[in-house]
Amino acid sequence: CGIVGAVSTRNIVPILVQGLQRLEYRGYDSCGVAVHEGGGLQRARSTSRVAELMSQVAEDHIEGGTGIAHTRWATHGAPAVHNAHPHFSHGTGADADTRPGRVALVHNGIIENHDELRAALQAKGYVFHSQTDTEVIAHLVDSVYDGDLFEAVKATVRQLRGGYAIAVFCKDEPHRVVGARAGSPLILGVGQEGAGGASGGENFLASDAMALAGVTDQIVYLEEGDVVDVQLGKYWIVDKAHKPVTRAVRTVRAHS
Ligand code: GLU
Repeated sequence: CGIVGAVSTRNIVPILVQGLQRLEYRGYDSCGVAVHEGGGLQRARSTSRVAELMSQVAEDHIEGGTGIAHTRWATHGAPAVHNAHPHFSHGTGADADTRPGRVALVHNGIIENHDELRAALQAKGYVFHSQTDTEVIAHLVDSVYDGDLFEAVKATVRQLRGGYAIAVFCKDEPHRVVGARAGSPLILGVGQEGAGGASGGENFLASDAMALAGVTDQIVYLEEGDVVDVQLGKYWIVDKAHKPVTRAVRTVRAHS
């Protein structure tokens, strides 16, 4: 039901989890966070409160500069840890179950053609670990990925029917989060140079500006069909026809 994402040079986990707390008012049945750490993907997920997730990440020492977080309101698959986001793609082949993930993804909304997409991906050898419609998007991104996550997400959303806001990152591209929206809200938060000890200009994604209160008040409201490439000190947006587009940066009034 809520999304937060970040690319920074500082440990971004506290901001991601605090962002989830600011989105708690939307309601949720589970929550989770994933970061790029040590050349791979790390995650924590919980069917309890965001406060519980916060102690879990502290216990497990989950830290990283690039990451995504989610509060889930289950539509496909019961509220359970294995259905909680972020979802990882697991690759294909005999070791698909044990191979560490490559793509991490969070999603709000409903993918209507998830059954046919899942069948096609299973035929390619993808192994599913959840009952969600969301997991098909993670494997789909993996299946079209060719070294450029922005291109992979653009190719993926062309195949999706339904409503979504998504945030995705990939183990092979440590300073990049790609977002897309159609039917569910997603905003870009433009960070301040040097904020909180970060260097190189951190940037954020979130379901709404309130999630980033106290972090940045420089907000770009993404439009229907937009895909956004979020990197350190820069971002890039294409519209629903995947044509490059400039969107206004607005200063929002701080919420407490
Ligand atoms: N349809 C997805 C699921 O059930 C996302 C739900 C949401 O918007 O939180 O996991």
